[in-house]
Amino acid sequence: MSDYDLPRMASASGLVSTAVLPAIVNTQAQEKSLTAIVATIVAGWRRSVRESLISAVRSSQSAASPMAIEAALQVALRDSEVVAGQTVPRIDRWLNDLELWHRERFAANVVGTVRLDILPFMSRADVAPVLKAALERNVALIEGLSAELAKRVQSAIWTAYGEGMSSTALAKVLREQFKFAPARARLIARDQLGSFSSSLDHVRHQQAGLTHYDWKTNLDGRERDTHRANNGKRFYWARAPKGTGHPGHEIRCRCKARAVIDPK
Ligand SMILES: [Zn+2]
Repeated sequence: MSDYDLPRMASASGLVSTAVLPAIVNTQAQEKSLTAIVATIVAGWRRSVRESLISAVRSSQSAASPMAIEAALQVALRDSEVVAGQTVPRIDRWLNDLELWHRERFAANVVGTVRLDILPFMSRADVAPVLKAALERNVALIEGLSAELAKRVQSAIWTAYGEGMSSTALAKVLREQFKFAPARARLIARDQLGSFSSSLDHVRHQQAGLTHYDWKTNLDGRERDTHRANNGKRFYWARAPKGTGHPGHEIRCRCKARAVIDPK
């Protein structure tokens, strides 16, 4: 990590009073593109249900053999692993795109506030551990979503088989198993976008020698009371605020840290 001293640089170029940078606020498009990647897992399971699982139940009911169902479920599980594997490079690209966007936003905010170009001081390598941790977390969440869909589909299919359910009734029961999935995909994407960009804020502030930040809450009525109370207050990166942690630490937190540059 190539640290630099932004407060000292800013003072040398004429900063005389504290400057506060704008918050780096993520876009809807960033959330949508990650949601789309997570949703491919759901689409994969829907495809398996449509193309093989329902017909396996139908044919085994006439032949009275659960073997065909088990075989079809095994194929669906393997397919879902393939789909999950295909999401890894896509998430990696999404994270890299976001890292570059964040780097450029941070540099633009510094230029706009203290007229210094810090872009040469930053690189992807500086935040490699943050990228790696985010990729692992995203992959684990996607695998968790796939495992939950697998459990629901398997259980619905064996119940249908045991009860001699018609394939129309089974199709309906299966459709219900997917109802939670779109909201879950959105939640995963929103939360991961928030926590990744908060981690980038934290690392980049530290790299620039910035020790504290102003808490910015998204005041739209959906914020937590404790986070609203933090709005506008100044905190040290070395001491996370009690009860809330730093902005973006708690699940679904949309609060941001505004970099504070004090003259030295
Ligand atoms: Zn918050």
